[in-house]
Amino acid sequence: MEKLDCIVIGGGVVGALILDELSKTNLKAILLEKENDVASGASRANSGIVHAGYDCTPGTNKAKFNVEGNALMWDLVKELHVPAKQCGSIVVAPKEGLKGIQELYDKGIKNGVKVEILNREQTLKIEPNISDEIEYSLYAPEAGIVSPYKLTIAATDRAILNGARVVLEAEVKDLSYKDKEWTVATSNGSYTAKYVINCAGAGAAKINDLAGADHYETEFRRGDYFVLDSTEGKAVSTVIFPLPTEKGKGILVAPTADGNVIYGPTSIPTNEGDTGTTLDAFAEIRKNVSLTYKCPNYRKVIRTYAGVRTIVGHDFIVEYSKKVPSFIQILGICSPGLSSAPAIAKYVIKLLAEKEDVKVKENLVPLPKKKKLLELTDDELNALIKENESWGRIVCRCEKVTEAEIIQAIHSPLPATTVDAVKRRTRAGMGRCQGGFCGTRVIEILARETGKTIPEIKKDMGESQIAISRIKEDSHEV
Ligand SMILES: Cc1cc2nc3c(=O)[nH]c(=O)nc-3n(C[C@H](O)[C@H](O)[C@H](O)COP(=O)(O)OP(=O)(O)OC[C@H]3O[C@@H](n4cnc5c(N)ncnc54)[C@H](O)[C@@H]3O)c2cc1C
Repeated sequence: MEKLDCIVIGGGVVGALILDELSKTNLKAILLEKENDVASGASRANSGIVHAGYDCTPGTNKAKFNVEGNALMWDLVKELHVPAKQCGSIVVAPKEGLKGIQELYDKGIKNGVKVEILNREQTLKIEPNISDEIEYSLYAPEAGIVSPYKLTIAATDRAILNGARVVLEAEVKDLSYKDKEWTVATSNGSYTAKYVINCAGAGAAKINDLAGADHYETEFRRGDYFVLDSTEGKAVSTVIFPLPTEKGKGILVAPTADGNVIYGPTSIPTNEGDTGTTLDAFAEIRKNVSLTYKCPNYRKVIRTYAGVRTIVGHDFIVEYSKKVPSFIQILGICSPGLSSAPAIAKYVIKLLAEKEDVKVKENLVPLPKKKKLLELTDDELNALIKENESWGRIVCRCEKVTEAEIIQAIHSPLPATTVDAVKRRTRAGMGRCQGGFCGTRVIEILARETGKTIPEIKKDMGESQIAISRIKEDSHEV
């Protein structure tokens, strides 16, 4: 059995960024993820906001990691070539909401966040389409947007390039500690290491129980969204929040880092893994959007989705277990977990450095920037087509994705093996037709490049094969 220093459980944004930080050091690390791709939990389906940190209770882990995470995010996304923009955010309120705006301002100042209270006229300069009733806003220029799954994937890719390992379809089933080592049994092999870092999101409390670590009760809250076509992308230039309530930050209107617009999320008590959207949730989004934003355009909705928040008490838990040795437990990473993840990852390295001689490696391998049709000049594109014809074949017409980009994704450090994994990496299937045109081409390319048969290609996780079997077994191979 391979000897390792750290086993990271869970390939969400927290696990991926921890693995990335570990791969910069002398510690040998592996990440175990139960699904067939990273970013399979909350890190694939959230609002993608890099919060400024004004609404976290001062003195909490949430406040500390959010503010530090925001500060780290903007260099990180450049290094990892992840779509992101520091577009600022506004919390808007009618006349009677000034007290709430003032309270948020005070918290922001305590947390060390740049915030400003604006009147209606000043707010309109930032966002002309706020509702007529809005009189005040809290402006946070340091907030922004990021593609959460691309951040997770890029961090994993860079970690692999720097020597870390990732095992997918490795659901952790058992953990035991003997002779100063943890053995972690999964559905895809057993692994031994000095430390376990449990960042399994919705599954983290169960992993803690399996390890005999501290027990936590978990709550789940679903957030439903509308996604609008990229033709609406310029309609909103900043993130528009209502005043927060005890249920959370409320239903926002926001641009996405990839050029769409989202309305959502709801906050509905639910069970782990309940990502089905409902009509009631959509009605709630419509009602709340109209309170802050004057011109929602539901005719441009191209998709809906939902993500599930994992909540453990009121704060993030990021610490060594008090019950078992060498076990770092990371639980309750609900919002603002995406914003906080870069800071959580650095803090985990500090925790390890309390016990280990952690040294930063020399000659780290940077993540190469992948070429994209939309970013090429005509001359660059023509030169690429001369070398490789697949640059001349557009597979996804809505998002202008070429066959070459899909092949790049399939042969990435962490290969894309499903239609949705290709979609998350290239945007093929993310446009107006939602894969109506390109879906079958992507399946063919995946089958060809991975040596699988078409019925073996999955849409996403679990049993999501698209084709059941060939109609004519003796027909020519595609
Ligand atoms: C609706 C919604 C909106 C949000 N909006 C924002 C936002 O705008 N800004 C922000 O900062 N935060 C936001 N968040 C929070 C953010 O999405 C999360 O904090 C973050 O994604 C958590 O990342 P994670 O790595 O801890 O968990 P996850 O992404 O859930 O990853 C955990 C991983 O562990 C794996 N796993 C589970 N059990 C096992 C097991 N037994 N063995 C192996 N692997 C296992 C899972 O498959 C999963 O891939 C939002 C969350 C939701 C749901």
